[in-house]
Amino acid sequence: MRIVRFKIETHISYGVVENQIVKQLKGTPFAAIRYTGQSFCLSDVKLLAPCCPSKIVAIGLNYKSHAAELKYDLPESPLMFLKPSTAVIGHGDDIIYPAISKQVDFEGELGIVIGKRAHIVPTDDAFKYVFGYTCFNDVTARDLQKKDGQWARAKGFDTFAAVGPWIETKLDTSALELETRLNGELRQSGNTANLIFPVAELVSAVSQVMTLLPGDIIASGTPAGIGAMQERDEVEVKIEGIGSLLNRVRCR
Ligand code: MG
Repeated sequence: MRIVRFKIETHISYGVVENQIVKQLKGTPFAAIRYTGQSFCLSDVKLLAPCCPSKIVAIGLNYKSHAAELKYDLPESPLMFLKPSTAVIGHGDDIIYPAISKQVDFEGELGIVIGKRAHIVPTDDAFKYVFGYTCFNDVTARDLQKKDGQWARAKGFDTFAAVGPWIETKLDTSALELETRLNGELRQSGNTANLIFPVAELVSAVSQVMTLLPGDIIASGTPAGIGAMQERDEVEVKIEGIGSLLNRVRCR
């Protein structure tokens, strides 16, 4: 099932997409799918980020290839950092290049969307707490990341968490192709089979630290090939079985 969040006129709803039609939902989709009976053409609605996370827990260095390109040692446990909820944008929204950075990079990632409150969850039960999966761009001010001792500034600018275009609820994530293109040119090509800590381990590990709530996102890390973006660039994160998340970069 493909879950969207969308705006039509001034009204914001969740919906289910089938054959280019959005079937509107009552409330949120996390506990139960309840239809209002209204539907719209997908082309007539404005897609928003498909959920409203209370927090985004991002995982650093979860592909060996990316750790190697940054010359970091492999972590013994998932390296977690937070991105604020205010960084979230959806499919088609602009990434704003901050005036205080001179290097803003894309990082294409598989986003794990939590479906129910998860607190100290064992790995074997982790999938019970996953609602679905989406494309995620962990936009990073690389120069500030290198300058600062921790990453809140480099990872936390408004618009630095692109999510979408929707949540796919039925997906086997054991071996999904993940590609990032900049202006149509392939820049990252990875596969979730190469995750150092796969989905169930990530959900379990994060839940040992902080309670995950419905709509929260775990960004599972990026493969090799990260690179800088410039004003007017178009960046696409494409994941097999989900689709493509497209955003353009602009200065304020
Ligand atoms: Mg990342």
